[in-house]
Amino acid sequence: PEKRPSSGGIWYGGRGEGDSERGQGREGDQDTLGPPRPLEEGPCQRRAPPRGWGTPVGGGGLAPSTKIARAPSKPSKTSIEGVLKAVGRSASGGAARVEAQGEAKRRVAGKQVEEERRAGGAAHLAREDSTQDASSRLAPEGWVNAVSERMPQREGPRMSINVSLARSSKTILSMVARNLNWIEREREETRACLHWVVTPEELEGRLLVRKPNQRMSRIPGMYMLCGKVKFAELFRLLQRREPDKYNFIPRTGIVPDDPEEELRSIVGKGYGILKPDEGTQGDGIYLVKDMEEIKRRMDCIHVESAVLQSYIKKPMLLDGHKFDFRVYVLILSLEPLRVFLSHEGLVRVCTVPYEEPSRQNLHRKAGHLTNYTLNKTNEFYEHNDDPQNGARGTKRNLQATLRHLARQGHDAEDLWMQIKNITGLVSGALGRAVRGEVEGFDRSKLWPLGVYRTAKMSGCKTPFGDPSWEGWERDCFHVLGFDVMFDEGGKAWLLEVNCNPSMAIDTVYPSTSPPELPHLDEGVEALVSEAMGHVRGKGVHVCKCTAHHRPHLHRPCPIDLAAKHSCVNGALSIIHRDYSARKAGAFASPEELAEGLRYDVIFSEA
Ligand code: ADP
Repeated sequence: PEKRPSSGGIWYGGRGEGDSERGQGREGDQDTLGPPRPLEEGPCQRRAPPRGWGTPVGGGGLAPSTKIARAPSKPSKTSIEGVLKAVGRSASGGAARVEAQGEAKRRVAGKQVEEERRAGGAAHLAREDSTQDASSRLAPEGWVNAVSERMPQREGPRMSINVSLARSSKTILSMVARNLNWIEREREETRACLHWVVTPEELEGRLLVRKPNQRMSRIPGMYMLCGKVKFAELFRLLQRREPDKYNFIPRTGIVPDDPEEELRSIVGKGYGILKPDEGTQGDGIYLVKDMEEIKRRMDCIHVESAVLQSYIKKPMLLDGHKFDFRVYVLILSLEPLRVFLSHEGLVRVCTVPYEEPSRQNLHRKAGHLTNYTLNKTNEFYEHNDDPQNGARGTKRNLQATLRHLARQGHDAEDLWMQIKNITGLVSGALGRAVRGEVEGFDRSKLWPLGVYRTAKMSGCKTPFGDPSWEGWERDCFHVLGFDVMFDEGGKAWLLEVNCNPSMAIDTVYPSTSPPELPHLDEGVEALVSEAMGHVRGKGVHVCKCTAHHRPHLHRPCPIDLAAKHSCVNGALSIIHRDYSARKAGAFASPEELAEGLRYDVIFSEA
């Protein structure tokens, strides 16, 4: 049941589709921005990580870039080039060709940037006369083709994916499977190279019957680690050791564990934001001013624990509205730890103009929180159905928005580099924490009790000794959603890592007649018509479900489709290359795995 605060603070119980899979968990690019380059040494990245901790690639010049690594124990039977060629990088492959052309263009653009930089020194994006050029470097032409081209796979092992437990991700997975020519399996017990699971319980169940080399879409332990309190515990530990490196997470306290004095200092003279541990999609969030309010809110939301964060009160705005970025990160494996950042993502904009928090506006949740679930029912929700347009809409395409910001005089390249730096450092830390390599962090709390019980039954003290878990660090992957916002000074802040980012592609129109779609790029249009058959009511039948309080229509959202199709398409392609390489006894470097795809390597262990 929804509860509302009696006075002050924000509470809102969003329902329906949103930023994460409801109830299942807490729910541009290097190439486009120019050639790979190390970040300038900034305050957040002064120290290199200890040996063996891997390399956040492209982040702060922390360590040399990764080398092509081959498994020493298993001599390569097949050349890696041969394997990769077989899985869709052949010169004759349509998608490969399109992507290669895009890549070539990006390289040329990248070279130009590098030359400009050498010739004219820094701040090439800030030059007034070059803002147009700069914006065109942010997103390469042809990304739409990259999502619509079919990837031929006549050679190499044909991949299969089991989507029986995929829930709201099923539509996008089916579309991508078709695009990549994978076999789709719908019955739970059917064998497949890859099982798409969502909850930790399903993952646990599947791990027990997993076949060698079979891939799982979740990393055990990640679900717990991305919970608000566990995440805060881990990063407080890391921040204490290396405050300059992890200075992109707002000061966070744990309620009720932390002393009142500490909590008071987090709120300071401004406001704090109180978030319940298990909350998602803006659920149960309050802005608070003092200890009394914190206590009152804790009673209201009936949770055992919550985090209190200092509220960033001067955010960067888009036409006077607060916004944040949702970026997608693929952790391909824990052993070795290899992480990739998708170029495509979303921008979520508030529907009410932003005002600094005060007693008068705290109730205007749609001005303070960017969650889609909260904003979709607002009368000012603006549908922007064109992924190429970053200038309008409540939900926008990430790269198009970066281009728009560049045109408005922001250093969009720097914004993107900060995102890369943060995602690289954080996913590296998450990976090490799940592997039990962060000193002082107890990883045993990351596994549900059931895992230990099952392990005990088969005579093991820990699940890792159980034979069915053999190779889990290599075969489990995870797509994480990072929420990043910027303050008015252009500094990035990580708000949350969502272990279960929504892959739903539909949106609701509170209308009984189908809205006109704008003229869309051919590739996106094809995706929309393909997705139309999958959405509730086929896009034309009026629906009265709880997704909206008014009669509405469900339609595929072109913004979601473009971002999520590209993200999943790239992720599955990387997994396929890795799978095929391993089957052939070879080991592909992360750069080889991501080549020609709209992904960057952001963390890698040699
Ligand atoms: P949830 O998991 O419920 O979505 P988040 O941590 O993502 O919780 O917070 C929800 C929204 O609240 C964010 O999308 C952002 O708009 C806003 N928000 C969260 N933390 C802060 C903060 N420290 N300062 C300003 N705004 C914040």
